[in-house]
Amino acid sequence: MTFEANPQDSHFVSSVSQCRSPACKPSLSSSIFEFLNPAKLQEIQPSVSEKARVLITGAGGFIGHHLTRYLVDRGYWVRGVDVKRPEYEPSVAHEFELLDLTKWEDCLQATQGVAEVYGLAANMGGIGFIETNKAVIVRDNTLMNLQTIEAARINGARRYLYTSSACIYPGYLQDKIDVNPLREEDAYPADAEDGYGWEKLYMERVCRHYAEDFGLDTRVVRFHNIFGPLGTYDGGREKSPAAICRKVALANEVDQIEVWGDGEQRRSYCYIDDCVEGIFRLMRSDHRAPINLGQDRMISINELVDMVARIAGKQISKHYDLSKPQGVRGRNSDNTRLREVLNWEPSVSLETGLQRTYKWIAGEVQKKTASVNA
Ligand code: NAD
Repeated sequence: MTFEANPQDSHFVSSVSQCRSPACKPSLSSSIFEFLNPAKLQEIQPSVSEKARVLITGAGGFIGHHLTRYLVDRGYWVRGVDVKRPEYEPSVAHEFELLDLTKWEDCLQATQGVAEVYGLAANMGGIGFIETNKAVIVRDNTLMNLQTIEAARINGARRYLYTSSACIYPGYLQDKIDVNPLREEDAYPADAEDGYGWEKLYMERVCRHYAEDFGLDTRVVRFHNIFGPLGTYDGGREKSPAAICRKVALANEVDQIEVWGDGEQRRSYCYIDDCVEGIFRLMRSDHRAPINLGQDRMISINELVDMVARIAGKQISKHYDLSKPQGVRGRNSDNTRLREVLNWEPSVSLETGLQRTYKWIAGEVQKKTASVNA
């Protein structure tokens, strides 16, 4: 069962001062489920003029920045927190605080006076980065996620969204090109991506325990390769669609680009507009178990390169570097549960998403080249 709540007139501000300490542990029947009842929701609305106050961690990053605009456009009061500001355009958050969420005091400050937390902060990147920085990723992400959820609880936030990843799925289900799409229940028996994936799986369980023991209303979303404009496209943390767009943008009209692996590895890709819409719908639903958010059209890296080359109008051939990491052989999202729970699924086609992304990255590459040559 799902319901839509209007952020303009929901319960949020008045609920912030509710006690959330273990001593005041609420039973699930009297807290979450009553709250999730739309009739109950009507009763606890404080005033139509009060708006939800939300925190987005990682608001200087790709998805967090887009989500900030999405929620501000829908009337939410947004506090963005990150160690850096968005790189490509200013944030529209009502408040933007530069805080380091690996530090406890910063987590407490970040979560003050908000009713909902969208946890998007992470030390992460594409396959090249996550395969070579496991200790740092696990250390930083464990510290920031565990401390942020605890600080949110102490400060009385009601709802907490955790951004997990398709990297939690077992390697043994992704070892060939023609894999079955991954269903949520395939996560166990576990064999997650070393480092990054294990931390994500662990935090998924932490969310469940915080819901069961403390009554914090958690949501867990497993993203599958989100891409779009205003995302990292160079420097070593970029993911495959952005890296390919950059390489094609830098290439001559007839040229060759480097591809990691043999290019036959396959993935599905979800455009950023669908991602933020899905996050919002999930947060407004009553679904607490982990859920996939991605597209279920799987294509190979070779096909992705050809698609970008067509968009750019260039003749691009490929040079394969087999020494570079390429991740699992095949990965796709099973969207059965997403459709059931949200009555919705991503709809922006890969072609449309790539056209917009390529246009933006080509523009950035051109600006950079012009400034170097000036
Ligand atoms: P991103 O790297 O663009 O954004 C993450 C942000 O977190 C960055 O701006 C970074 O500065 C910030 N951050 C890092 N350390 C911090 C700290 N100590 N304190 C405060 N902020 C800190 O990544 P994204 O693509 O926007 O991803 C958002 C979330 O979604 C992450 O949890 C990520 O693991 C998850 N995810 C993303 C994808 C994807 O395809 N983009 C796929 C699966 C999961």
